[in-house]
Amino acid sequence: MDLSFTDAERAFQVEVRHFVAKHLTPELKRAQDLTPSVFSEPEISDAWHQALHQRGWVAPAWPTEHGGYDWSPAQRWIFETECARAGAPSISPMGVRMVGPVIIRFGSQLQKDFYLPRILSGEHIWCQGYSEPARISDIEIDIDALEMTELRVMSALQSGENPGAISSLLKLRTSEIRQAVTRLGVEVIGQHALVCEPRRPLYRLNEPAILPEPELPLLPEFLNGRAYTIFGGTSEVQRDIIAKLMLGL
Ligand SMILES: Cc1cc2nc3c(=O)[nH]c(=O)nc-3n(C[C@H](O)[C@H](O)[C@H](O)COP(=O)(O)OP(=O)(O)OC[C@H]3O[C@@H](n4cnc5c(N)ncnc54)[C@H](O)[C@@H]3O)c2cc1C
Repeated sequence: MDLSFTDAERAFQVEVRHFVAKHLTPELKRAQDLTPSVFSEPEISDAWHQALHQRGWVAPAWPTEHGGYDWSPAQRWIFETECARAGAPSISPMGVRMVGPVIIRFGSQLQKDFYLPRILSGEHIWCQGYSEPARISDIEIDIDALEMTELRVMSALQSGENPGAISSLLKLRTSEIRQAVTRLGVEVIGQHALVCEPRRPLYRLNEPAILPEPELPLLPEFLNGRAYTIFGGTSEVQRDIIAKLMLGL
């Protein structure tokens, strides 16, 4: 395997080095040196973005018809290495590296014409909104896993087997998932969760309720849900049982 660079790649390396030396000001380098996160502050990454944009190097991996350079893997490696070695800031990756290539591959002509130049120029800054812990997609996965476990238990019971400590697992996970769902309900209604309807039962209200009816039980469900991990055997006790009987700890 030949890992040495070609003459053209060496020339490119010199070109990148000159560019970085010219545009990476001491202020910018100092700011980046004092940046603890993998993401640079917007004012730093924007400044570097503009320098790269003026040179046409913001999105070199993009196809040329969209403002890229079709750089080879070796060129990309050289560029990244030279920037990192010099201590250059990173540019915001969401537009150039994440959504841009998706638009290039799957977007309509209208989307390409509108978004791609704005990503390149830095006029548009993108962010991503994937799931956070204990949000809907995670809860859905937990519920699917719980359902699979229930089906396994039912199948074991049908064949006369004793599911043993799996019942502790079901109690534990059901309690926690129910709490996660009720917490989500409270978060969804936002400030409405601060309205506490004191009368019980809720369905016997003889005056119009302050909140829309579907929202009425959400806060009481959340508060009541605190009990799930206590009654019927606390979660700590269920974990003890699982640890001893299932994991042999
Ligand atoms: C809303 C609600 C309704 C209830 N309804 C009923 C009902 O209808 N019928 C009924 O019989 N009971 C009912 N209970 C009682 C419930 O089952 C008990 O509260 C529960 O089993 C915990 O027992 P405890 O309160 O004695 O707590 P304890 O067992 O004294 O536990 C106290 C704390 O120590 C921890 N702990 C205890 N043992 C261990 C251990 N071995 N390892 C690690 N940590 C441990 C627990 O996790 C807990 O944090 C209800 C409780 C609530 C909150």
